[in-house]
Amino acid sequence: MEGKRLKIAVLSGAGISAESGIQTFRDSDGLWENYRVEDVCTPEALERNPELVIGFYNQRLAQVLKAQPNSAHRALVRLEEKYEVDIITQNIDDLHERAGSTRVLHLHGDIRKKRSQADPLDIRDIEPLAQGIRMGDLDRFGMQYRPHIVFFGEAVPNIEPASRLVEAADIVVIIGTSLQVYPAAGLMYYAAPDAPIYYIDPKADEAKGLDKRVVCIAEKAGKGVPEWVDRMLDSAR
Ligand code: NAD
Repeated sequence: MEGKRLKIAVLSGAGISAESGIQTFRDSDGLWENYRVEDVCTPEALERNPELVIGFYNQRLAQVLKAQPNSAHRALVRLEEKYEVDIITQNIDDLHERAGSTRVLHLHGDIRKKRSQADPLDIRDIEPLAQGIRMGDLDRFGMQYRPHIVFFGEAVPNIEPASRLVEAADIVVIIGTSLQVYPAAGLMYYAAPDAPIYYIDPKADEAKGLDKRVVCIAEKAGKGVPEWVDRMLDSAR
């Protein structure tokens, strides 16, 4: 009889999508595609200049639609052969879903969706996706739809279910994140005391103040993740 499958919580950040051609923010001198974050990723920016903010996210959407999942996204799908896998991603792209991962929780929103500014429960698919959100696309209150993105300074509604998934995990793996964006960076502290934690990021060795049990794998995701997944699948046999 097959034993109970172990649970793995995967915490992924912008670095896992870097080799798919989607730039990270912190690796580019604080500029994200030539924009300052305060000009495009804050509630104040949306209020001040909705056209600029919506235009910026429409460009991000166009870039995501052109990108393809890479070997790291695909390896995490294979992990489901032997484990119960929950992916908790800071990314707004859908590359985990397109690779085939079945359980993906987005902490910072989803670039394929738009949200009412008056009713946070009114979240819809952008249609047609290729066009992005149009200026003048209004909700039932007559307000402009905004990107379904958590801006800097806004609450992260999915942090609660995410922390429960990490708490319940037997193994935690952190991939491609600088661990500087809170509250996402605090999630690993919910790990059970006996749960091993792996950290795969080319700068993993430079991280300061990490829990002693964290095993750092200083590799790009495209190489480090498939190798780690192979080891995990071998050890589950
Ligand atoms: P971040 O703070 O998580 O930093 C990026 C990390 O990726 C760094 O630690 C870097 O060493 C690592 N990295 C770079 N190349 C890598 C590779 N090939 N393999 C593995 N790791 C690699 O994230 P950020 O870029 O500062 O972004 C801040 C926030 O902006 C994110 O939390 C996210 O919400 C959003 N963002 C999303 C996307 C996306 O959806 N793809 C892209 C950029 C930013």
